[in-house]
Amino acid sequence: MASDVCSLTLAELTVQLKTLGEPAYRAAQVFDWIYKKHKFSWEEMTSLPKSLREKLSAQIPFPILIQKDVRDSKDGTRKFLFQLFDGQLIETVFIPTKKRATLCISSQAGCKFGCSFCASGIGGWKRNLTTGEILGQVIWAMRVCQEADVTHIVFMGVGEPFDNYENVMRAIRLLNAPEAFQIAARRITISTCGVVPGIKRMATEDLQIELSVSLHAADDDTRSEIMPVNRKYRLNELMNTCRAYAKDTNRQVTFEYILIKDLTCTQKAADELGRLLRGWLCKINLIAYNPVTEFAYQTPCEDEIKRFKESLEKRGIIVTFRMPRGEDIAAACGQLRNA
Ligand code: SF4
Repeated sequence: MASDVCSLTLAELTVQLKTLGEPAYRAAQVFDWIYKKHKFSWEEMTSLPKSLREKLSAQIPFPILIQKDVRDSKDGTRKFLFQLFDGQLIETVFIPTKKRATLCISSQAGCKFGCSFCASGIGGWKRNLTTGEILGQVIWAMRVCQEADVTHIVFMGVGEPFDNYENVMRAIRLLNAPEAFQIAARRITISTCGVVPGIKRMATEDLQIELSVSLHAADDDTRSEIMPVNRKYRLNELMNTCRAYAKDTNRQVTFEYILIKDLTCTQKAADELGRLLRGWLCKINLIAYNPVTEFAYQTPCEDEIKRFKESLEKRGIIVTFRMPRGEDIAAACGQLRNA
């Protein structure tokens, strides 16, 4: 299958159009239609001659994302379910607040990492998304969610972004490119479950994007129990890699930590987490476990969460608590799946 048009850089599209006998300015016209006007088919590009649109439609396809469902939460969150060309399903979540509008996008259909609190891993891994399928989610959201511009992108939907490294990095460069989405790098966050080689590789990229690491437990036994990736990349190796990343890039790492009643939200866990992060220039983001019917975990009560947070703050750690969004439409952290 030929590369879809949303997987191409402006330079690559220029070359492809040249081989079809088209002048260079056509590529800029196409980019304008896609990335500024959010058109998602050749037919909509009415400044292009009809014969050219027909030719391009046959030669350079658009990625196929069919909106199968859209659900609106009472808190303003909107969840999209897309079907891809081969029938695979992915989810994308639009999260508006007063100051920003974040789009949480998927990088894979399904996930092979099987974290025990996350619905995305239940059906296993199906395949990597192309760059065009990743960016198609953004174009579609910008087209449909006109009440607020998408200001921030987080790779926190279905899949592990570092398991689809090349396509994700290409997508990030297009998100950042002035001729495409023009979203500032610091407004793009890549979130990993702790794939050490991916973190090392990203440290060598010339990109100022944010790195978020799903920590979720501060001892190897608990982490291996809830995140199988920890059996391969142990905490010590992960933390050393994050430390090197922060030093080499001069950027702060954010750690995500899920609060599960009687497991990760205990005084013992808070003490271990405090010890692990002592002396770090980092931020920890606490997330209360969001219920998934297949799992028996429970969400801690407000008092337990407050005690856990205060315990970390007493140690001088910067702590934020992420309010759950879109719980009523199963769009909150850990609730996304392929259905
Ligand atoms: S938390 Fe991330 S890595 Fe873990 S199963 Fe869910 S999508 Fe995969």
